[in-house]
Amino acid sequence: MRNSNRQWILKKRPIGDISKDDLELVGTNVPEPKTGEALLQNVYLSLDPTNRIWMSDIDQYMPPVEIGEVMRGGVVGKIIKSNHPSLDEGSFVSSFSCGWQDYCLVKPEDVSVLPDSLPLPLTAYMSAAGLTGFTAYFGFLSITNPKEGETVVVSTAAGAVGSIVGQLAKMKGCKVIGLTGSEKKCKWLLEELNFDSAINYKTKDVLGELNAACPEGIDIYFDNTGGLILDAVLKIINLNARISVCGLISTYNSKEPVPGPYNYGNILMKRARVEGFIVSDFAEEFPKALEDLSNWILEGKIKYSVDVQKGLENALEALDRLFTGKNTGKLILEVSKE
Ligand code: NAP
Repeated sequence: MRNSNRQWILKKRPIGDISKDDLELVGTNVPEPKTGEALLQNVYLSLDPTNRIWMSDIDQYMPPVEIGEVMRGGVVGKIIKSNHPSLDEGSFVSSFSCGWQDYCLVKPEDVSVLPDSLPLPLTAYMSAAGLTGFTAYFGFLSITNPKEGETVVVSTAAGAVGSIVGQLAKMKGCKVIGLTGSEKKCKWLLEELNFDSAINYKTKDVLGELNAACPEGIDIYFDNTGGLILDAVLKIINLNARISVCGLISTYNSKEPVPGPYNYGNILMKRARVEGFIVSDFAEEFPKALEDLSNWILEGKIKYSVDVQKGLENALEALDRLFTGKNTGKLILEVSKE
């Protein structure tokens, strides 16, 4: 156990890309649990594109992190001292009330206790069998209602959410085209995840490649990026296309207001349905998603990749991987050893 608790504090709101002086790593005392509390040691911290949203004070789906607060983040941690009978020392829990620090005090209502023996590695419950898997499951299956033979396009296709969406679409008998930012990721999509086509949006003419890969048009678009990719997709959507708006990563670091898509009019012409969602909208159905995704992973129908970076002190460099495309699959920070 460390003799101090390191915390990443939000010092100021980023303008454009997150800069090193927007957050500060400070040391404080490790807190002592009082009656009814337990001490959680952070093991894995989830790093997500939405961290950038929480750092800003735009209208959003949760309150922004306040200046001076510990940066928010989902964690899996270990109970190392307990003064509560339902929080056993040595047990693993997931929590949303700890964030970017080594230790925090928790009460039972702050955590979900994980079962003693789990069929999958802990990191799976932070990726394909966790919130990013649930995002793909509900954002694709519930929002777009895919049918066999339809053409599905997904952006950030080699990322945590996108890689699962593409595989769910293949399971549904759809034709799947993924967009991603490197040849290596394209190869992974084609050779490991069985996508029908993969387009490197950084080096190719996106509309030209989409036209070539989707001669019958696009029925479903799972949007993780917004921006130019969304615009190209809108140009060739089919009648009654469905667009699931999951994320807009191409806009999160924008300094200026983001312009609307040039091809917005096609939503009218093609009577398309565009629906945004936040994974927590489906919280009541998480147990069903967990069961399905765990089974599909165990049966080899869904593959997943985790990018585990190490050390709380490296949180900012690690987070940057999401915005430079260095991660493949779910980005996780190992804060301490399991
Ligand atoms: P991820 O895809 O694992 O990582 C982000 C990826 O975005 C990077 O690897 C990079 O891949 C790509 N990217 C970065 N900047 C880009 C840009 N300017 N244009 C196009 N692509 C860019 O992250 P994730 O956790 O799975 O999240 C994916 C999206 O889902 C995000 O927009 C996120 O906000 C959203 N999300 C939404 C919910 C919800 O409840 N609605 C929940 C979770 C995540 P490339 O190499 O392909 O560029």
